[in-house]
Amino acid sequence: MGLKFLSETMQGMIEQNISLVNFPVFSGYCASCDKVHSLSGANAGRYGVALMRELSEIGRIDYKTDFHDADPRFSIQYLFGPARGQMFGVLECEDDYGSVHVLRAFSGQYNGVWEVDGWVGPLLDVAGFNAIVPEVDGEIKKLGRQIEQLVQGEQRNQLIAQRRTLSRNLMKEIHGLYRLPNFRYDERLLGEVFGGPIPTGTGDCCGPKLLNHAARNNLKPLSLAEFYWGKENRSGSKQHGSFYSSCKEKCGPIIGFMLCGIEDMEKNVR
Ligand SMILES: [Zn+2]
Ligand SMILES: [Zn+2]
Repeated sequence: MGLKFLSETMQGMIEQNISLVNFPVFSGYCASCDKVHSLSGANAGRYGVALMRELSEIGRIDYKTDFHDADPRFSIQYLFGPARGQMFGVLECEDDYGSVHVLRAFSGQYNGVWEVDGWVGPLLDVAGFNAIVPEVDGEIKKLGRQIEQLVQGEQRNQLIAQRRTLSRNLMKEIHGLYRLPNFRYDERLLGEVFGGPIPTGTGDCCGPKLLNHAARNNLKPLSLAEFYWGKENRSGSKQHGSFYSSCKEKCGPIIGFMLCGIEDMEKNVR
């Protein structure tokens, strides 16, 4: 019963030897070193499979909360509804004493929530986000309703232009709330690392969230895995129970910077 959400392939993988599976490697170009930094997916994949089992078995992500106090927003059913599935990630890392820690993340928000106990938080400053976004978002929606009521004409075009400016400025402000650290104790704004227009949701994938947490807590990453859980996405590119490497469009330009320095982190410093 616990495995009911696992695809047949995943069940096969669990029954066979998981270590035989090649989990994707995470890598990216780093402009400051002029080289590619990469991180293995091998061991984290096993933890990923364990997390899949757990999701199937307990059916919710607020696993730190007692069953009786479970928050309905955090039910796994959410991933099988109209919102569809999302990515989950695990990062195996090591502290200065050589102890292994397994961090977990969900991509973006879970059912509108940024922070859930037991999962790493977002890169963005949540208080800053809440102070800016709801108000401007309300204005944008209000403009949208006014635009709908108008037929073609000068006034309508003006409102459309106004809405475009508001959205563009809001995106800029949101991007300003993201700070990317790496393993050389360097930290930069998202816009400084990302060349060109920044796609919505950049920095919200599991990889960046996990690396951010590790870098800020002096944990050395050993391996990383990301998998998709829930109803397949609209384009069909993400399937329930499948592992994926970091995405090209959002993570591609930042993952190299974020991985910078992992090769040089001291292991087993006591
Ligand atoms: Zn990504
Ligand atoms: Zn580098």
